[in-house]
Amino acid sequence: MSNQERKVHPSTAVLTAGFDPALSVGSARPAVFRSSTYVFDSPEAAERAFAILGGRIEPEPGETADLVYSRFNHPNAEIVEAHMLPLESHARAAAVFNSGMAAIMTAIMAHTRPGDAIVYTVPIYGGTQSLIQKFLEPWGLLGVPVPGGDSAALDSAIQHTPHCRIVLLESPANPTLKMTDIARAVASAAAREPRPLVMVDNTFLGPAFQHPLQLGADIAIYSATKYLGGFSDILAGVALARDPEIMKPIRARRSLFGNILAPDECWILDSRLPTVHLRMNRQSKNAQRIAERLATHPAVKKIYYPSLFTDPEQIRIRDAQCDYPGGIFSLILNGGKPAAFEFLRHLKIARNAVSLGGVETLVCHPRSTTHSAVSDEELQLSGVVDGLVRVSIGIEDWRDILADFESALSHAEAV
Ligand SMILES: *Cc1c(COP(=O)(O)O)cnc(C)c1O
Repeated sequence: MSNQERKVHPSTAVLTAGFDPALSVGSARPAVFRSSTYVFDSPEAAERAFAILGGRIEPEPGETADLVYSRFNHPNAEIVEAHMLPLESHARAAAVFNSGMAAIMTAIMAHTRPGDAIVYTVPIYGGTQSLIQKFLEPWGLLGVPVPGGDSAALDSAIQHTPHCRIVLLESPANPTLKMTDIARAVASAAAREPRPLVMVDNTFLGPAFQHPLQLGADIAIYSATKYLGGFSDILAGVALARDPEIMKPIRARRSLFGNILAPDECWILDSRLPTVHLRMNRQSKNAQRIAERLATHPAVKKIYYPSLFTDPEQIRIRDAQCDYPGGIFSLILNGGKPAAFEFLRHLKIARNAVSLGGVETLVCHPRSTTHSAVSDEELQLSGVVDGLVRVSIGIEDWRDILADFESALSHAEAV
């Protein structure tokens, strides 16, 4: 643990915390430790490690359980977790997973049991919605959806849902960018006994632009496949908590489920963390320039982007909890689905693909892809209409992407 004595700023700590070159033959950057098992100094050390892992004895202050077996823990997970902590304001514990869905599933399973309820905002990531409706509900949990941004409905659901254990917020929501007031949800949860945990999927704006733990949330969740990974070439997830006690059952479930991120992927993810602020800043600046110019384009009926919000309540939430508008916007085209498809068909630089947060610009049509399994009624309620395309802006020169969009929009206008 070099550099832990003196507190340094996050952009420094992400390069220096939790990694001691002396443990890796002096290598300046972390090595990859692929071993599935670790050698004990003595049989007593093995006995003690298992007793600590099994929760039968408490470690001494400063003592960490020896490495045992890579399904429980391994050096590359420890290194990348140590580097995530300074990036997420107020985080004191982190756990990496082999996907964002694995992080969400494990965090929920660790803190609920059959008979409990989860209050969650909609629209929400399609995988999360399916997890709740198709797996957790048949398993015995009650899922209570609340429209994102509707603070009164959220307060009421938190207060009146029996056995509410988790309040799961996704803000901004996918793909409408609807924002939910995190601090208010925290206050509402605090008014209930026992207090439900507030969990925020921070994939869209974190860790650069939105800080849920600082606002009082208990758990921040990431699909690290997106901005943290940053290059559309790994799947990963992270859970971060204000209180290490909240992370203990999550780590214990991860050991059972076997969904820890593998050493090679940890090493890749770790190499991306020092640049996440640089990339996200560039993506946000690019997206803002492009979105603000497209807002008045004749083929565009409406645009969802934080700097272009018009609803005073959404503006208030944005100003209270987001530092910058981020790299994602959605366009609603006048010509509906045919216009959306013509637009996608004529893009030359941006690619037609789902996912987001990579250095390359990606565009998709949620209604026929990511949100195609959701019922028509739910889709209309959540605003995922036929003419909507979602855009994730990369780090290209924004003028090239704008030109590409304008040229593709001229075809969309013609339908
Ligand atoms: C992609 C995504 C997920 C799921 O993450 P995976 O890494 O694909 O499992 C969850 N939430 C949001 C907001 C996402 O964009």
